[in-house]
Amino acid sequence: MGGFFGAASKRDVVLDVFFGVDYHSHLGTRRAGMVFYDNGTFQRQIHSIENAPFRTKFEDDLVDFHGNSGIGCISDTDPQPLLVRSHLGVFGITTVGAINNADQLIEDFFADGGKQFMAMGSTKVNTTELVAGLINRKETLVEGIKFAQEAIDGSLTLLIMTDDGAIIAARDRMGRLPVLIGKDDDGHCISFESFAYQKLGYEDCYELGPGEIVRVTAEGFETLAPAGDQMKICAFLWVYYGYPNSNYEGVNVETMRYRNGAIMARDEEARNGQIPDVDYVAGVPDSGLPHGIGYATETNKPFARPFIKYTPTWPRSFMPSNQAVRNRVAKMKQIPVPELIKDKKLLFVDDSIVRGTQLGETVEFLYGAGAKEVHMRSACPPIMYSCKYLSFSSSKSDMELIGRRVVQELEGDEGQKHLDEYSDATTERGKCLLKSICEQLGFDSLEYQSLDGMLEAIGIDREKICTYCWDGKE
Ligand code: SF4
Repeated sequence: MGGFFGAASKRDVVLDVFFGVDYHSHLGTRRAGMVFYDNGTFQRQIHSIENAPFRTKFEDDLVDFHGNSGIGCISDTDPQPLLVRSHLGVFGITTVGAINNADQLIEDFFADGGKQFMAMGSTKVNTTELVAGLINRKETLVEGIKFAQEAIDGSLTLLIMTDDGAIIAARDRMGRLPVLIGKDDDGHCISFESFAYQKLGYEDCYELGPGEIVRVTAEGFETLAPAGDQMKICAFLWVYYGYPNSNYEGVNVETMRYRNGAIMARDEEARNGQIPDVDYVAGVPDSGLPHGIGYATETNKPFARPFIKYTPTWPRSFMPSNQAVRNRVAKMKQIPVPELIKDKKLLFVDDSIVRGTQLGETVEFLYGAGAKEVHMRSACPPIMYSCKYLSFSSSKSDMELIGRRVVQELEGDEGQKHLDEYSDATTERGKCLLKSICEQLGFDSLEYQSLDGMLEAIGIDREKICTYCWDGKE
């Protein structure tokens, strides 16, 4: 994943961009960077954020940065933003998305007369450099961005800061991710997360449509390429990785999660005639909590936090390279409240069940701490396809997903032809999948939110929402 923030203003924007980018830290753990434009010059810095948070890594750079325009990013992939000099001028560029056909694009680039890309240690070409190479094939930045977006199999959302301090923002062709513009008395900012600019004193100004390209300056913004009429915004923004305070397409993340938990409980009661008799409803921290609140409210059960993550010294960005240490850290973070676990019947809501490994360990941990029953609810349907648009999950293959793995165990290759039935808990195959996952992970009961229930909770036209993870529909 990844996220970005940029600002163009009549005043210095270094602190705005610094804090604005920092507020996107939940979207990536690998690299971060900022570039500023000041009177014809650019200043740029990139750091690894694998073992220390963004602010710690960049605060020493702040004294050297100046500028009325700047862009920055949190990147889960390659180092960026990059500074590029081409026939289109000098520009800073940062990208979010996924490129599935990078090798083909590089071959096409050479076949078409292109001569070189810088290679990284892995011999891979930096994704953002590849995008810049595609953009530079055309005569204007706008033509180049459109060309890159057409050529890329995956998705591409970007910010470009040009050598006059203006910022060009382009939302992916299908609008998989949000891009919003904020406004204050001195200028404008562009952000993935709306709360980031609201907290910095900017007001909502504009949300780009799918494929829309805008040019943003201190004075205002203009559309350089209009929005397309088809949109597929990522449903997982609301279910899992969007920040609770943000709004996308006018729908707040936190309140969607309350609705989602409530709808799940409502439908479960209608389907089964009852809800398990538990002492507490809880959410798996962190993004399971609001879905759990919705479920508890709907069922009139007490909400509790039987275990709480210890985060002060282990922020999410703490990623030791050693797998054994990482596993140890995951366990060390979960601190139980024994009074809320021992001899208690618990119902947990998690945002999703991807591979199931972590959840299996959580359940073991709860039983180890004396829980009498552990029921699990997933706030979205079984995930059957790895995301190919956002480098969202790190699954290398669909068969790493617990849903697909269990289908294979149940019915072999034949089962893979009936994934739509398996994802629907009201069908025989769906019930079978549910039962097998429930047994494998050791829950007392398991239910999934339905696709219809999740889309009802988001509440915008379902045709505008990407549901590929669940139904494989492009
Ligand atoms: S495939 Fe899944 S994670 Fe990827 S954009 Fe679609 S809904 Fe989001």
